[in-house]
Order: sequence, then structure tokens, then C-alpha cells
Amino acid sequence: MYKKRMLIVTGVVQGIGFRPFCFRLANEIGLSGTVSNTSRGVHIELFGTKRQLDEYESRIATDAPPLANIQDIARVGPDEEVHVRPGEFVIQPSKAERENTVLIPPDIAVCDDCLREMKDPGDRRYRYPFINCTNCGPRYSIIRELPYDRPMTTMSEFRMCPLCEEEYKNPGDRRFHAQPVACPQCGPHVRLIAGKSEALVATSGNALDVAADHLLEGRILAIKGLGGFHIACLPEKAPVALLRKRKQRPHKPFAVMARDMETAKKLVHISPEAGQMMLSPRSPIVVCPKKTTADVSELVAPNQDTLGVMLPYTPLHHLIMERIPVLIMTSANFSESPILATNEEALENLSGIVDFFLLHDRKIQNRIDDSVVTFAGKRQILLRRARGFVPHPIVASRKLPPVLASGPEMKSTFAFSLGKSVISSQYLGDLKRLETALYYEKTLRHFLDLFRFTPRLVVKDMHPQYVSGFIAEKVLGSETDFLEVQHHHAHMASCLLEKSIEGPALGLILDGTGYGTDGTVWGGEILFGDCRSFERVGNLRPAPLPGGEKAIMEPWRYALSLLVETFGKEEGIEKASRIWPDHGAIIPAIVASANEAPLTSSCGRLFDAIAAMAGIRDRITYDGQAAMELEAASDRSAGGRIPFDIYHDDGGYKIDWRPAVEWVYQNRPKIGLHAIAGAFHLGLAESLTEACRKVSVDCGIRKVVLSGGVWQNRRLLALVISSMRRRNLEPLWHSALSPNDEAVSVGQVAVGAAYLQDLQD
Ligand code: ZN
Ligand code: ZN
Ligand code: FE
Repeated sequence: MYKKRMLIVTGVVQGIGFRPFCFRLANEIGLSGTVSNTSRGVHIELFGTKRQLDEYESRIATDAPPLANIQDIARVGPDEEVHVRPGEFVIQPSKAERENTVLIPPDIAVCDDCLREMKDPGDRRYRYPFINCTNCGPRYSIIRELPYDRPMTTMSEFRMCPLCEEEYKNPGDRRFHAQPVACPQCGPHVRLIAGKSEALVATSGNALDVAADHLLEGRILAIKGLGGFHIACLPEKAPVALLRKRKQRPHKPFAVMARDMETAKKLVHISPEAGQMMLSPRSPIVVCPKKTTADVSELVAPNQDTLGVMLPYTPLHHLIMERIPVLIMTSANFSESPILATNEEALENLSGIVDFFLLHDRKIQNRIDDSVVTFAGKRQILLRRARGFVPHPIVASRKLPPVLASGPEMKSTFAFSLGKSVISSQYLGDLKRLETALYYEKTLRHFLDLFRFTPRLVVKDMHPQYVSGFIAEKVLGSETDFLEVQHHHAHMASCLLEKSIEGPALGLILDGTGYGTDGTVWGGEILFGDCRSFERVGNLRPAPLPGGEKAIMEPWRYALSLLVETFGKEEGIEKASRIWPDHGAIIPAIVASANEAPLTSSCGRLFDAIAAMAGIRDRITYDGQAAMELEAASDRSAGGRIPFDIYHDDGGYKIDWRPAVEWVYQNRPKIGLHAIAGAFHLGLAESLTEACRKVSVDCGIRKVVLSGGVWQNRRLLALVISSMRRRNLEPLWHSALSPNDEAVSVGQVAVGAAYLQDLQD
């Protein structure tokens, strides 16, 4: 007498060798039945004794392949008694169903087994740049439709040869049902093309060798990778200077790829946590403290004490780096527009920048940048959540109604809820760029299609001009219900969701800028509330931001505003003219215009202003530059602490920077940049924490979530955490999401879901 049991397994269970695992496990335990991918999850039908069935069910959870992320193993109905059972266990073809609840795996760095084969002259994939197996290779970047099966990926164009097909169909093989499986006979190939003439220079046989030769000679190459194109060159002065000139990117740091861990360790200090992250299947860029002995040009990351380093993550990278220890590898895109991903786009846009193109013919369906991670001590900070992380979900503590969130503007992402999961798109770029807006719309439509998702509510930012809101309206139509959510409430909610906090908490939201409920520009806020609602209980003292957007690229303008607020108009102008004699002529006009300028309490702008006053720079060339350089300059040994005041008015607590501005003005000639930067970090951390403590005493809440772009600052994060703990507060910070605006869409989902749940109750 046997029993029949049916299971549905959900989570990240497709494209990571899950069905082969089900097959092997069934054979090991002696069960017969079937397994199939459906768009609702992996469906397993089992025949055996109760004991065998129970063993199987529990071992799905404990023995699943390393890349699986199981959310639920559910039985479909009760067990049935059967008298006969099938003789074997088979893997059935995939079925598509109405609604997709299956999660898509991220792209995975090449595994050791594949690398070993690639280096083995006897292997038929010897030196093949697209070798992969069920444990590694492209996933998200090649998926067109669900369920995840070869015809639904960009690999459908390559017809498997008999040898590959045999591996693909053999349950005992590592490539059993590995959808991107390929070999030199049947799979994609590389070719090298000259920059200007677009003449073919070399094909598969030696294209990689010739490409490496050119790189070693100091040439600049475009290299098509997993989620898009990189621009690559040696990290030496001449090629880097040329690249910066051609790309018109004077200062923004470039990341490098190091051949192996040993080489990486010569460039940067790698903590155990950072090393583990670099070697993980996610394989992101990890920003680490730069060694003074690092043999890379100062031009790679000017005025930074850190360097972003990654290891090769595709077989193609491994082959390119065989003779090159370190390469600049920077995303091929322009000013926050999407990464270039088709051969045609690359040829059209990069011919004035690169000397050669290393192309291949596996299409990229979903473009995705390298992820960027850094560490404050052992604490992981995601600076960009993309390849290797997306579309892995953030898991909420309970089931959420279907909500779509359109996200922020500058670091745009969108997100939606699917059961307990919240899935965020990859970082898509700045929506003020037309190309980004178009790509955002395309990706949004693709996701809605892929998951056959219909939201009950669409969330957008309160800012009346955010493009993300307009696109969501265009795509979803005006029939859908919309909810407007304040930017920093969304920041707070993203951290509450990530940390599974239901009840009220405080939020110390330090950010660039966001539209406040009072029409001013917020960005240095203490909020009290939960995902449903919030109250602004404290903030940095606001000041006019003269010139609006222009002030962001010219930090000295906000510094001028702070000087006038601190010393009064006349004295402020006089002092500013002394610091910036070059701008002397326009200073009175800027001050006069301050009456009409928007007020802001932004912490990002405060960093900019202090950096400008300290003499770091008065103009920036990339977002966050002045603040990043202020962090890099901060002297950890300097004991000084810049004073701030805290007072209370009808709007709650105000953290007043006027004493700090006075202090910086008076001390700048004496103590120098590094000591000012160090004392500013210390003083700001103490005063923010003290303000939170006062609020905490008033409302009896000890938990404080930390979110907003300023929390990318490792020094400030470490100082605030220890200072809060000393004051008996309980700080909580992001680790699975980025603290910057990329996470806003996830927070919007949390607020939207809470709103719908309230309506229901
Ligand atoms: Zn592999
Ligand atoms: Zn083949
Ligand atoms: Fe923000």
C-alpha cells in the first residue's frame, strides 16, 4: 500500500538546479512520481510509504541546492491511498499558468567546476567563454518569460548540439536542465571589432587573446558582459586619463577587476566579511580601504581613500584576465542612463570612447549593473543593489496585498508585492534622462507581464513632478487607485519592512532631498510612526537652497546660505567673499535671491556645505562627491567635536548647525581639512543621537531605523550606532537593501500594503 502526496514549493526554486535535486532525492529515497516547473512554483507528485514521503518533504528544506531560497513547501490536499504506483521518477515539461508566483534567480558567478573544465585542455569546453551549469551562469539577465525554461530565455536562438543535449537530458549530469547550457559547437561566440571602422579584427579562436594584447598596450575596450557593457583599460595613468577625457567624467571613481583574491589584496585591505562577499556567487564590487602601496593610478579614484574591487565573475572575464592582473571595469553608460546592452547601441554610442569592441551574440534581455557593497566594520552597506541580488525578494513577516510602487526619481527602481515577497527592480538610473525613463517603462511592462501582476494599488511619491509617477499612471491607466507617499516615510518604511518591525519606531532619515508634506525640501528628519502613518518630530534646521538644483552641483551656494543664516546678511556675505573670492561678484545676488529659494532640511546638503567651507571643493562633477570626499578626508584620530545646538519649537526638535558653521569658519585656517572633517562627523553623530534620545524619552520608543542616502557614509553609521547604544537606543540599519533612494520603492510598497490592510479591517 502506497500513498500519493502533492507538494508545491515556492521561492527561488527555478533555474538553480532544483528539479534535478528533486530527481536525485527521489531516487535516493526510492520514491516515484513527477516534478515540474509551473508558474506558481515547483510542483512535485510523489508515490511511496508515509515514512519515505515525510523524509522527502523534510529533506527538501534541509538539502536544497545552495542557490535555492525556499519560501514555502505546501501540500496540495491530503495524502491519497494508492495500490499501484509509477515505476520511476520523471521530470515533466513546464506548464504556464495564469498567475506567476515563482521567483526568478539572480545571475550567478561562474562556479569552480566550470572553471576547472574551462582550464582543462582535454575538455570539450576548453577556453570556452560561455561555459555554465545548473550551479552558475546567467539567469535574470536572459529571462524573457516564465516558467524559466530554455525557450523562454535569450538562449532559445542557440540550438543545442547532440552532446549538449545529452548532458541537458541526463539527470546524473551537472548540466541536467541547465537552461543556458552551451559549447563551442552550438553556443554563443565572441568577436573583436575595431572602434572607428567597425572592421572585424578577430573571431572566437583568438579574439580574447588579441583583446588582452590591446588592453596590455594601453588601449580602451568595450567588453560585453553578463548584464551589459563594461569599458575596460589598464589602471595606469595614460589610459585612465584618456578614458576620463573621452568619457567626460573627471572625478567619479572607477571600479577595478582584480584577477584573483591574491591580486585584490595588493590593492585594498580586505576584511573577512568583504572577502567572503567578493568570493560569493553574487560577486559584487566591494569598496574597501585602499592600500597606500596599491599599484594603480591616483586617477582611478581621485580624492578617495577607498577603491571598488571585484573578481572575475564570468568565464569570459577569467579568460581576459589571464595575462592582466588588474583592469578598470566601469559600466558603459552615460550620466545615470541605463547600461548599454546591445551590440548596436554599444557601437553607436561608444565609438568615440573605446578603441575596440569585444562583442558576443548572447542577447541581454534585462540589463543589470554590477552591484556595489561596502562595509562599516562587519556591517554590510549596499551602495547599489543589482546583479547577483536582483530579483531576489525582501521577505515580509506576513502576506501583502498586491501593490506596485513607482519609486523615486534619481536612483530609480520600482517594486511590487507578491505574497510575502517584495521584489524590487534593479537600479535603473536617473529618470530625468529620457533614455532612463524609456527603459524604466519597458522594464516595468516586462515585470508586469512576466509575473502577470495586477496591482490593487499603485504608490507614487508626493513630489508633483516625479517622472516615475507619470510613467506608472501611463502604464497602469487612470482606473487604478493611486496613493501618494512622502519620500522619507517611504525610506523609513523600507527599513521597517526589511527588519520586520510592525509597531511604531523612530526613523532618523538622513538623505539628499525629498518633497515634504509642507512643500519644503526635507532630508534631515526624525520621524515617529510605522508603515501606516508618521509624524515629523524633529529635523535639521532648514535654510534656503539658493539656485535649487544648481546648488546641488555647486555646494558652496548652500554654504553661503548657512553663513548668512548664522552671521546675518552683511557679515555672512563678507565672510563668504573671504572664503570664495572668485565668486565674490555674484554672492550678493545669490543672497538676494534666497527669499524665493526653497527651504531645505537636507543632511546631504549640510555635508556639501561643510565640505565647501572646509575647502574640499565648491563644485562637484558627480552626485554625492563633496560628501564622499569629506568622509574620505575625516581624520579618525582628531579628538575635536563640532558643536551643534538642539532646541524645541512647535515643529518638534531642531538640530541647529549654526554653532557648527561658526566653528568651521573660525577654525578652518588653523586646523585644516582633515581635522574639520573628523570633528564634523563626531559632532553631527552626537547631536543627531542626542535629539533622538530626547524624542525617545517623550514617546517611550527605543528603536530607531536609519535610512536615507547619507547612511552610505561608513564613518557616520559607525559613530551613530555606538553613540545610540550608549544612550540606550536601539539602532536598526539596512543590510539587505541600500539605504539610498533605490530602497524607496520597497518602502512605498510597505506603506501601500498597510493602507490597503487598514481599509480591510
Ligand atoms: Zn558551473
Ligand atoms: Zn553544444
Ligand atoms: Fe531619498
